[in-house]
Order: sequence, then C-alpha cells, then structure tokens
Amino acid sequence: PADFTGRQVTVAGLGVSGVSAARALARRGAAVTVVDGGDGEAHRARAEPLAADGVAVRLGDGATLPTGTDLVVTSPGWKPDGPLFAAAAAAGVPVWGDVELAWRLRGADGRTAAPWLAVTGTNGKTTTVRMLAAILEAAGLRTAAVGNIGTPLIDVVLSPEPYDVLAVELSSYQLHWAPSVRAHSAAVLNLAPDHLDWHGSMEAYAADKGRIYEGNQVACVHNTADPATTDLVRAADVVEGCRAVGFTLGAPGPSELGVVDGLLVDRAFVERRHQQAQELAEVGDVDPPAPHNIANALAAAALARAYGVPAAAVRDGLRAFRPDAHRIEHVADVADVRWVDDSKATNTHAAEASLAAYDPVVWIAGGLAKGATFDGLVAASAGRLRGAVLLGADRHLIREALARHAPDVPVVDLDRTDTGAMAAAVREAARLARPGDTVLLAPACASMDMFTNYHRRGEAFAEAVRALAAVPTAEG
Ligand code: ADP
Repeated sequence: PADFTGRQVTVAGLGVSGVSAARALARRGAAVTVVDGGDGEAHRARAEPLAADGVAVRLGDGATLPTGTDLVVTSPGWKPDGPLFAAAAAAGVPVWGDVELAWRLRGADGRTAAPWLAVTGTNGKTTTVRMLAAILEAAGLRTAAVGNIGTPLIDVVLSPEPYDVLAVELSSYQLHWAPSVRAHSAAVLNLAPDHLDWHGSMEAYAADKGRIYEGNQVACVHNTADPATTDLVRAADVVEGCRAVGFTLGAPGPSELGVVDGLLVDRAFVERRHQQAQELAEVGDVDPPAPHNIANALAAAALARAYGVPAAAVRDGLRAFRPDAHRIEHVADVADVRWVDDSKATNTHAAEASLAAYDPVVWIAGGLAKGATFDGLVAASAGRLRGAVLLGADRHLIREALARHAPDVPVVDLDRTDTGAMAAAVREAARLARPGDTVLLAPACASMDMFTNYHRRGEAFAEAVRALAAVPTAEG
C-alpha cells in the first residue's frame, strides 16, 4: 500500500503538509505535481528544494486538474467545493487529505504502525491532545502529540522513531478527507457552529467530525453535556466490543468519567480490585482548573485509560501538563487586576467557556466573526461582565448583542482595526476594571483583520499589559 510507483498524483497546496506529502509520494515512486494558486516569493522558495525529489510544481493555478492525475492529495485549508475537486469528482479521481495519506503510509518500510488515539471537537483539541501525550509519557510510553499541530503527521508516521502510540488532533477539514482512518479510540469534545463557510452546513460539519468514530476498536469517548457528540457515537459503525464512554463534570454514571468531591473519577475502565470507581487525580492537578479544561482532562484521561494507562500516570501526566501560550494564559497582575490572554478563543463557544471562569470580568473582544452570531454568548455572560472593550472589523455585531442582552454593561467601542488598537483596548480595560477583577482577552473572533494570527494578537495584548505594569498607576 505504501508503493505509489506509476501513479500520477496531484498535491493541492504548497504548505507545510503539502510539501511533506509531495516528498513522501515522490520517494515512493509517484509522479507528483504540486499545484497552488499563489505565486509569490515564499511559494517559489518552498518549491525549489522539491526539484531534487523530482516533484513538479505549478504555481498561479490551483483550479485546473493536471491531465492524467489518478489521485489528488489535498491540504486542510482547501475548500471542498473548489474547482479542483469538482474536476476530480467529474474524472472519478479520489481525493485524500494529508491525514488519509499518513494513515496509508503507517507501517511503511517494514516499521510497526503505532495505533492512534484521536481527538476532535470545536474547541479544546490541542489542549486535550497535549494532555493526552503528557499522560501517555507519564506511563512510560513513546508518544507524540501530532495531527493538526506540530510536525506534519506524514513525517511522524514515516520517522524512524519507534512510537508506541500517537495522540492525534484531527480538524473537521482533515476528517472530511480521511475516509479510511481507524482509531484505537477517539473523542469528540464538543460541537458548536464553526467553519460553516467551509463545510456548507452544521449537519455537514457534524458528519465530518463524526467520522473520527468510524471503525474505533476500544472506546468512543463523548461529552454527556453535549448530546450532539453522543448522537455521533450512535451513528458510528465501530468494531464489535467497542464501548461508548462518556465524560461529565458531574458524578459519573457507569461507563463514564466524571468529578466527585474535587476528584476526577473513572467508572468506565475500573481495574478489578477497585470494584466501582477509581480516583484519577484532583481537580487542582489540572492547569487551569476551569470547567471546560476539566472536561478536556477527563476526555484525555478516558482515551489514556482506554489504552490501558494506570490511574497514577493520569495524575502524573496532568500535573506535568502546562497549557500552550494564548490559551487562558495568565499574563500579569497589575494593581490587583488579573490580566488573562485567551487569544485562541477564536469563536463564540470558546469565548463563552473562558468567560464562565471569571467574575467580575472586563471583556476585550472583536475581530472577524466568520458568520457567527453573539446573542447566546453575551446572554450567558452578561451577569459577570464589569464592562466590554470592542475592536476589530465585526465588533458592531458584539456591540449590538450587548445592547440587547446587557444594556447596563459599559461598552467602549474603539472603532479601530489597526494593530495599535490592542494597546488602546488594554488602557480602556484598565480604566473599567476594579481591584479583584479579571481582564480577559477572549475575542470570540478570528484575528486576521488586524493580525497575522491569534498568536500575534495575544502577543500584542501581553506587551500592552506589561507596558501598563511598568507605568505606576495614578493612585500610586
Ligand atoms: P482547538 O485546538 O480545538 O482550537 P485549543 O485547545 O487550542 O482548541 O483551545 C482553544 C480555545 O478554546 C481555548 O483558548 C479556550 O478558550 C477554548 N476551550 C478549550 N477547551 C474548551 C472546551 N472543552 N470547551 C469550550 N471551549 C474550550
């Protein structure tokens, strides 16, 4: 299956995953052409080294399918309704994503294929996969957190490193083009509207997420507070004996993991001598111990337990875990106000989760809404808001929702989309905050109207907060 001799493969997209796909295919005998609509200096720089592997690159046209193509391998960002895929469908040519290719290359060159513990969901994927990898490592297993993060999955699958098991983050884009992936066990953390412009509808988005359960061997992990995830488990065709395992922030039922008296507890994978339930860790072992993050920890624990990891390793792994930057990151305390950077909250579901963890809170929000509505988020958070500072292209949508659901909350509409606006937002937030409050950057929007990415947005926030800390306050 890992031999592509004689095949004519078109790789869509000259990004990080496209480059590793092209190289892997060429080295296994395929005649490879990479196509990309872009034609800038960066593209040419990336194309150049591929020549050594005999890969052809066609820049400036990502729409036409090269004649003779018998397989398309696409990058996650490419929308499925694009002309290249229409041409492939018309010609009866299959389309694989980078993840499908990685799955088919597993075990190539005589290596053992490490099983996958897979995670998807609208929010919390990266965090959960990193927690899972930390737990697996604490159990002494050779593992890596891969997929939608870090090293391209193709490179990890083909690396000579002898992995025991992989913690794999899969986006809905990747799952859309990954029909034959079969995980050992998989989790869908939650489902909320996001990326609907790509998938076309909520139904199509949910169906793509649900593919992660197809063919699971041991456990399908779902969120009992989010029935849509449970429905996906019911709809999935799994290996006989594979179990549905729920996680809940309340007391767990049979075949669930949950929380009892400040402890994470497992009632699904109980070792014989424990009979009923098994303690895994303390809520305080999870960083930060916010409700949504406890849910992430429970999902990670469920997958690790499905793989046979002992309870003590769950605790040690969670204790060793530290969140990535810009995910509810504590930046500084200034004049008894806590400043928190959740720039990664790029949709309303994520922002709602982090807002729920603080009270009272001054909220900095705005950016590109991606078709979202803000009524639910604002209505759920209104009672905790000390004030709001809005910036970015679609801020009027948030302002209008605040007027509807939180008319008494003071709002500063910065009416700016320049990069300096973040520093202004921080100053305005400092004016609104009182001692004991938290100021939270949770934009509920994408960042690209003002910044290159959420990372830059978070850095701009943190810099402005540090500048604030350096200036003595008027009160001294
Ligand atoms: P993803 O990889 O799915 O984008 P991350 O782990 O990077 O998820 O977290 C993104 C943001 O989503 C976080 O900054 C936080 O605001 C929010 N978040 C994390 N976990 C959850 C969850 N379980 N439910 C809701 N929101 C969450």
